[in-house]
Amino acid sequence: MNDTEKSRYMIRLCGVVQGVGYRPYIFQKAKEYGICGWVNNAGAMVIIDAEGERNSLKCFVRDVAARPPVLADIKKVEIRLQASAGYEDFEIRESDTFSKGLKLVSPDVGACEKCMSEVRDPHSRRYRYAFTNCTECGPRFSIIKALPYDRCNTTMKDFQQCSCCETEYNNPESRRFHTQPNCCSDCGPSLELAHSHGCTINCTDPIGRTIELIKKGNIIAIKGIGGFHLCCDASNDEAVMKLRNRKKRPHKPLAVMTKNIQIAARYCEISSQELKLLSSPRRPIVLLKKKEKAIMGENIAPCLKSIGLMLPYLPLQHLLFDDGLEMLVMTSGNRSRDPIQCENDSVIQGLDGIADYFLLHNRDIYSSTDDSVVKLAAGREQVSRRARGYIPYALDLGINHDILALGAEQKNSVCLSQSGYAYMSQYIGDLKEMAVYERFKEIIDKQTALLKANPLIYVHDLHPQYLSTWHAEKQTGPKIPVQHHHAHMVSCMAEHKLFGEVIGIIFDGTGLGYDGSIWGGEFFIGSRKCFRRVGHLGQVLLQGGDRVVQEPWRSAACYLRALGLEARDYIKTVERYEMDAVLHALASGLNCHSSTSMGRLFDCIAALIGVRDRITYDAQAAIELEDMAEAGITSCYGYRINTNSEPWELDYRDILAGVLADLDCRVPASAISAKFHNTIAAAAADMVLRLREIHKVNDVVLSGGVFENRYLLEDLHRRLKDSGFSVFFNEQIPINDSGISVGQLVIADSILED
Ligand code: ZN
Ligand code: ZN
Ligand code: FE
Repeated sequence: MNDTEKSRYMIRLCGVVQGVGYRPYIFQKAKEYGICGWVNNAGAMVIIDAEGERNSLKCFVRDVAARPPVLADIKKVEIRLQASAGYEDFEIRESDTFSKGLKLVSPDVGACEKCMSEVRDPHSRRYRYAFTNCTECGPRFSIIKALPYDRCNTTMKDFQQCSCCETEYNNPESRRFHTQPNCCSDCGPSLELAHSHGCTINCTDPIGRTIELIKKGNIIAIKGIGGFHLCCDASNDEAVMKLRNRKKRPHKPLAVMTKNIQIAARYCEISSQELKLLSSPRRPIVLLKKKEKAIMGENIAPCLKSIGLMLPYLPLQHLLFDDGLEMLVMTSGNRSRDPIQCENDSVIQGLDGIADYFLLHNRDIYSSTDDSVVKLAAGREQVSRRARGYIPYALDLGINHDILALGAEQKNSVCLSQSGYAYMSQYIGDLKEMAVYERFKEIIDKQTALLKANPLIYVHDLHPQYLSTWHAEKQTGPKIPVQHHHAHMVSCMAEHKLFGEVIGIIFDGTGLGYDGSIWGGEFFIGSRKCFRRVGHLGQVLLQGGDRVVQEPWRSAACYLRALGLEARDYIKTVERYEMDAVLHALASGLNCHSSTSMGRLFDCIAALIGVRDRITYDAQAAIELEDMAEAGITSCYGYRINTNSEPWELDYRDILAGVLADLDCRVPASAISAKFHNTIAAAAADMVLRLREIHKVNDVVLSGGVFENRYLLEDLHRRLKDSGFSVFFNEQIPINDSGISVGQLVIADSILED
């Protein structure tokens, strides 16, 4: 057969293919290579019937399957040779059949360069238009109410396109062909500036006025794509402090947005990989190291060497930097502990006393999402908070049952299965407040409806007091309880497609174990279905319930007592009566629980070396302890592994004794921190080496919230690699409790297979 002879292929492509500019791309490629036939959109599948010269056809297939537009995510390609049909041109066919199987819509996408140059062009009809978008960029997930993805199923439904926009929409050669949220200033959403009590401020240029107000030190609540931000000038210390005081958020780092990458690079070290993450169309918050000499407001991320930074992703945000501002604080627009807010009226009420002004718009947000947070760990992108730009997230896990996994409590997310795929929800929040519980229910309802899913089985954490467990109990249908750290382990196995036995090292804050005590320094051997607890951190009796987590000095007091030491000799910053109360309660067993939590051991060390007695945000003491660790120190403290009976025990007594001896010799806290981190990594690696000898398992999985600690994760990862292990850690599924729902779902599915 020669290359100019004609062939015909039937091509099926599966994945994220809707709302990502795929069909215009295919159309354009067909023209380029002289291909005839048609393309048809069917849900998460694109079908192409392509006829042309053999060589051209090959190039066409290569371009559409292997080099799709940046937002398309092709999961499966199928090509079949067909008998010739004699097509004479290429057309885009509409399809009303909506396929079963994978149902994917695109995440929300940051404004593309082409759109931004229109926004900057005084001659363009979209000059300074804040809602400019095209097939390659703009809102998607946050505005979609139902599938298929058509304008009438989005919150753009109420905006009738003007004739210019409609012409673009219908022209296959336009960048806005079938762009569902297509609009312009004549026909699309508009901005409105309002006083703190909600009264509109009459002005022709709300963005210009907002810039002036920010420069004067005001706090503005700005409606974005997935919710509201609270925004102020990051270089204005007074404004930043005002925001902290009003939000009652004394220390927690505030995310910032810089005008561009050049400004970001003035303040932070940015590697080429980090640059890629920052400027990707997903536009996450990236955790970056501050430059040592850069002068950044001390109040942005107090006591920390790193900062969360993102680049503008909405035309509106780009425009805010047009008149001199370079760095803005962009923190989620809610009261502390509440979920992110997205409705105009409720936001004006909810942020009363926090925001000085509101910059609103009239496009509704259907699904609210926070900003996503990522970092680099051991050279890989690691997602800590999966939300805007990263959701929806479908995993091809071959799930055989219709399950809803309800997650844990902190950093909750839920996970739903349908037709073999698992769909993880966006980050929901800490499921302690009723407001977060309301959002949790709403997200479950919306995702179930969007996917037309019908969950029959509910999976929840073992902990009886989590709201997620309580919610499961109210449902009719079978329920499956899953141990917290098993779920962590399997979340990582699912991501890396591990099906056999693994050794799991799960270092975590809190999670209920089968014996009724709190676990969190765990070594498991197991599969997706079940596990054996083969080792753990030595037990300690902790006193004070939830207050232990809020007040690290309590962990220190409990550990000191376990060593038979007088806590008052080491912890001098705490009121005498508080210390006495803890020690008395420990002696009488009042409100005490037994724990193997690695998180509490980190708290204990942080308190002992004077990092912090009490925290104001989640894991603050451990984060600051990691942050201060001096680079270049390789020494360790002594440790012991007791192997007389299973489960083995990682004995903390020598480690603590080493830390106390260093404190006595006035070794700097930064060195103690590094040595402590090294010790935990060395001891864990040692434990796993010994386990391998007995159990002959070589795959090691690292999971649990303590591994958000990059120093610990990278050090342990390196040690295990050096010993020849295959080592895996959570990358795309959060390593913290946000990933629990995926683990729960996979475990339940494996249990049901029997
Ligand atoms: Zn665009
Ligand atoms: Zn228009
Ligand atoms: Fe956990």
